[in-house]
Amino acid sequence: MSRDVTDLLPAARELAEAMLVATEQAGYPVFITSTLRTFHEQDELHAQGRTTSGSIVTNARGGESRHNHGLAFDVAFVRPAGEDIFDGPWDQIGAIGRDLGLEWGGDWTGFVDRPHFQVPSPYDVGVLKAAATGRLRRGIGAAKANVIQLQTLLRQAGLYGDRIDGDFGPITEGAVQTLQREARLLPSGMVHPRELEELQRRLS
Ligand SMILES: [Zn+2]
Repeated sequence: MSRDVTDLLPAARELAEAMLVATEQAGYPVFITSTLRTFHEQDELHAQGRTTSGSIVTNARGGESRHNHGLAFDVAFVRPAGEDIFDGPWDQIGAIGRDLGLEWGGDWTGFVDRPHFQVPSPYDVGVLKAAATGRLRRGIGAAKANVIQLQTLLRQAGLYGDRIDGDFGPITEGAVQTLQREARLLPSGMVHPRELEELQRRLS
């Protein structure tokens, strides 16, 4: 598991660095405890408190956390040795993150995760996971919900005018190829994280 901000995608890295500066300036300095996790590391973390010892720390399996996609980081408070690094003014830290445009795990209902911050993304983790594992392309039975989200965003970007039906057919594939050609990526018709980034860039 990495705690290096250079392992994050550029947008997340920029916000993580801004967070360190802003919390220092506010008088509540924090440090980064976690950035990128591999799918395997996430699966091991998910097992904790379920099939291995310890308490449950996450509901996300491999690919289902923004940490697995370079879009999230965790923080703790800078404290003298021996003191609890998770005991501090979380609400102030959460507000600083929100002001920077981050989503804060302390705002979640259900599983509240106060050390956690992530970059807002138009994609559910299912789409990110499908792209990372090559399961978002024509001819492999991509999950309908993921294809619906992709088609919706392709339409918003002006690249897709057909039905939003969750079926990754030739017209969806053609829209992905148009996106790729315009971005000077290989027009493979396959959606990878870089195609999602390109689409997000066009929509922002
Ligand atoms: Zn986290």
